[in-house]
Amino acid sequence: QHFGFEPINESEKQEKVFKVFEDVAQDYDKMNDTLSLGVHRLWKDYFMWKLDPVHNTKLLDVAGGTGDIAFRFVNYVNKTNMKDCHVTVSDINPHMLEVGKQRCKSLNYSPDMISWKEANAEELPFEDNTFNAYSIAFGIRNVTHIDKALSEAYRVLKPGGRFMCLEFSQLENSAAQWLYDQYSFQLIPVLGHLIAGKWNAYQYLVESIRQFPDQETFKNMIEEAGFRVVDYENLTMGMVAIHSGFKL
Ligand code: SAM
Repeated sequence: QHFGFEPINESEKQEKVFKVFEDVAQDYDKMNDTLSLGVHRLWKDYFMWKLDPVHNTKLLDVAGGTGDIAFRFVNYVNKTNMKDCHVTVSDINPHMLEVGKQRCKSLNYSPDMISWKEANAEELPFEDNTFNAYSIAFGIRNVTHIDKALSEAYRVLKPGGRFMCLEFSQLENSAAQWLYDQYSFQLIPVLGHLIAGKWNAYQYLVESIRQFPDQETFKNMIEEAGFRVVDYENLTMGMVAIHSGFKL
């Protein structure tokens, strides 16, 4: 089923994605709650539980946007009193990062534990072997060259470091996939228009989900980047999947 969408042209993708997130930055958190009925919070909580930071974890959260993963990381390490942990939130879009920084202030998180860096996932401004963990949540499907982002992830991780990705994926059951497609293709752009006045941005959202590789294909791509012990876990019947791999 094509629903009349043109495949996203590679040379225009980065610019288009930038514009989309510039447009939605202010409404981003509210829209996530509305469109997923709050379920994205549970997926992210589980993702952090699975990442399971230990003492001295230096996490790089790529495409970190408004800070959802970083704040969960800080909550997790604060609960277990691991003050030596740190997260760097990086994102290509300064508008998303700005919303994140404001949230960080209003939530009273210590600035020592979080830093913010504008960066393209395909060209990270960090030295080789810098981080113990790399996370990317609902980010990788927006990147133009996924293979470049994966090899950058590999480069900046220390040996033994872990790559973890949370992303929309393919449902295990084809009837459920059909229903979900009806919801996403027909309803999401309309809700995006009604709630945020941004039909195009939300049309892009569903289009990018549809075009992202399935669980097995993405697993192979992660292996091709050099990661080992790569596996994935489906959440909510495969609506999203968590992929994990190690730099050994
Ligand atoms: N991780 C956050 C979350 O889970 O709420 C934000 C996810 S948001 C759907 C996707 C983010 O990817 C946006 O903030 C966007 O600016 C960022 N992004 C898109 N292309 C990128 C790239 N090439 N490098 C880094 N970030 C990128």
